[in-house]
Amino acid sequence: YFNNILIGSVGNLKNDSSIIWNTINSFDIDKKLIKNENEIVIEIYANYEVGRFSFPPIITNISNANKILNWFKIIILNLYIIAIGILWFAFILLLILSYLLNKAKKEFFYYSLAALLFSFYIFDNILIYDLGIPLIIFKKFIFASVYLACSLISYGIYLQFKKKINLFLGVYLLVSLFIMLIISSNMVVLKKVSNIFNIVIFFNIFGWLYTTFKERKKSIDAQVILIASIFLLFSFCYDMFFSTFQKTSILNIVNINIYSSIIFSVALIILVIFNYIDLEKNIIIEQEKRNFFYYKSITDSMTELFNHQFIVNKIEELSPAFSVIMIDADNFKDINDNYGHHIGDLVIKHIANAIKSSIRECDFAGRYGGDEFIAILKNCNKDDALIIAERIQSNIKKPLLIPSGESININTSFGIYTSNDKESSASILQKADKALYNSKKNGKDRITLYSSDIS
Ligand code: GH3
Ligand code: MG
Repeated sequence: YFNNILIGSVGNLKNDSSIIWNTINSFDIDKKLIKNENEIVIEIYANYEVGRFSFPPIITNISNANKILNWFKIIILNLYIIAIGILWFAFILLLILSYLLNKAKKEFFYYSLAALLFSFYIFDNILIYDLGIPLIIFKKFIFASVYLACSLISYGIYLQFKKKINLFLGVYLLVSLFIMLIISSNMVVLKKVSNIFNIVIFFNIFGWLYTTFKERKKSIDAQVILIASIFLLFSFCYDMFFSTFQKTSILNIVNINIYSSIIFSVALIILVIFNYIDLEKNIIIEQEKRNFFYYKSITDSMTELFNHQFIVNKIEELSPAFSVIMIDADNFKDINDNYGHHIGDLVIKHIANAIKSSIRECDFAGRYGGDEFIAILKNCNKDDALIIAERIQSNIKKPLLIPSGESININTSFGIYTSNDKESSASILQKADKALYNSKKNGKDRITLYSSDIS
């Protein structure tokens, strides 16, 4: 009322189903009403929590009033929308993560529901001129959201860290909620009962603090929840203090719980990010392990050439035409006998390197066993296989310098078979071997191409 004339009202005056707080409203004053001395009267009707915070009434021109209103909307109202957005973001991330972790971390499902329920709680701070439902039902819904959210987090923490105290506190909170919903017949009773029962939320947060503090060294999740719980406890104490002493401060323009909701949802998001990074890391480690063991299973550890089994399988897979070169060191026993096994091993590595460096990337070099090697040359005819075999042979012949300072000359015998039609690997290997045998038989240190008339 401006000079006893009603200039405006807010909310549903008939059935008290409005939530009007954390907001400012503007009303037009007719210039004709302004006198030398003026009087403003504000009447507040409410069935619960009546009051006006420290903002003084401001009388100003329309453009200033609009500026103040706009700034208020930008700073305060958007904060609630942002908080809801962050909580929904946390909800979706946690839900996806709990799905990805495939039941390994069931608690993330409960945390995700808690984030969703916390977002409903923020509706309590939003300006609603006409709820459409009685205020008491709306308020009960809000309380139920908070209590359920907290008990879900307690349950999640119980699942994660296996401390029974959290399960107990979560159930205690649910029972309190149930009693509160039943006995609160009107807003005044609900307010009084909730003031008493809110202490159970306090206990639950203590439970989170206690558990995560104990587990902080073992788990990053515990550290994140611990820090979030400290902030929650702080804002909870702050809220209790101001609702008890009815003090106002600049922080109270926005309900303090909005900060705790944002902090807690951000903590949940950080939890998701840490866990996701962990998950990715594990996947990469697993993949590397698998690659390592696969590599080990198909190679010979001394020469790092493919092993016998891999070569047999490869020959089975390849489509003709391709050539197989079988290589065996000549008089290798003598090398072992004259220089020792250690030098024998060096010779084997020398041969392996010579084969590898003489063939293309797409070809395969394998250790067939002992001093016997094999090269598979893809899309390679007889003539080309012969050229490559000669190249391998001359590379092997390059003198090998051994630690004693001597150099060793190594001779090798070759057998080549070119497969032009589909054939079993056993038959292919047998023919290459036969050619090799011929080289040995005819004096070693030579290359033999397989033909049906060799014996
Ligand atoms: P040939 O010219 O007829 O092939 O005569 P050879 O002396 O090379 O005889 P053969 O191929 O039958 O013998 C291969 C020898 O290679 C037998 C074995 O003691 C030796 N050997 C097999 N694997 C290794 C290895 O990994 N290191 C060493 N130092 N010797 C090996
Ligand atoms: Mg040999």
